[in-house]
Amino acid sequence: MIAVNIEKKLKAYNGLQLLRIKKTFLPGGITRITGPSGAGKTTFLKMIAGLVSPDNGTIKANDTTWFDASQKMNLAPQLRRVGFVFQDYALFPNMTVKQHLEYATDNADWINRLLTIGGLETFASHKPDHLSGGQQQRLAIMRALAIKPKLLLMDEPFSALDVKMKSALIKDLQVLFKELGTTALIVSHNPQELDGVSRDELEIG
Ligand code: ADP
Ligand code: ADP
Repeated sequence: MIAVNIEKKLKAYNGLQLLRIKKTFLPGGITRITGPSGAGKTTFLKMIAGLVSPDNGTIKANDTTWFDASQKMNLAPQLRRVGFVFQDYALFPNMTVKQHLEYATDNADWINRLLTIGGLETFASHKPDHLSGGQQQRLAIMRALAIKPKLLLMDEPFSALDVKMKSALIKDLQVLFKELGTTALIVSHNPQELDGVSRDELEIG
């Protein structure tokens, strides 16, 4: 369970805007995060990952405190062991597809399964600049899954995929999440794509 109760002053071009979020995410649940551009969806995910600090409040994962402003407690991102799919993928230009996964895990069977689910088997030795946008995006998703995260934060993770590819991948992800007990937070501009997958929604802004 992830319990979030935070405040953050967003520095928007048109002035300060207070982002205030209180929400509990249940184990194994999939939550879609919606709201207009600039509302703070990306910043919210980054605060949970430890990449941006809230101004006030707490973030707790089960019995562990990740962030507590009053105690100046802020657990380092790598210790939270969350998976993060960045909107711009943040792939490593000098690494092949396979090396991206090997960087996160040495479990060869798991790597092979992720390559299959991502439709990336035949591209295992390619570097990102020799992949299509959709392949890059699928690699970003598979890398985030490589550590078998209990919490997976996904920022517009399906934006570069065609409808058919997207629905097949979402089905595969549902199976994986169930197997791993993964809680997933998915920022989406097109929340209907998650109909039938996620009943929980957090609207920001
Ligand atoms: P969304 O993902 O909903 O489009 P973002 O989280 O990207 O929104 O950004 C929301 C606003 O927060 C933007 O105006 C941005 O300038 C501001 N912002 C982004 N990061 C920070 C930060 N670390 N501190 C304060 N404001 C931020
Ligand atoms: P380990 O401690 O096993 O080496 P890593 O340092 O590879 O783990 O990653 C720690 C956490 O941070 C993981 O949850 C990983 O998904 C995330 N992470 C770190 N850097 C990135 C990145 N560039 N893209 C996606 N996730 C990242």
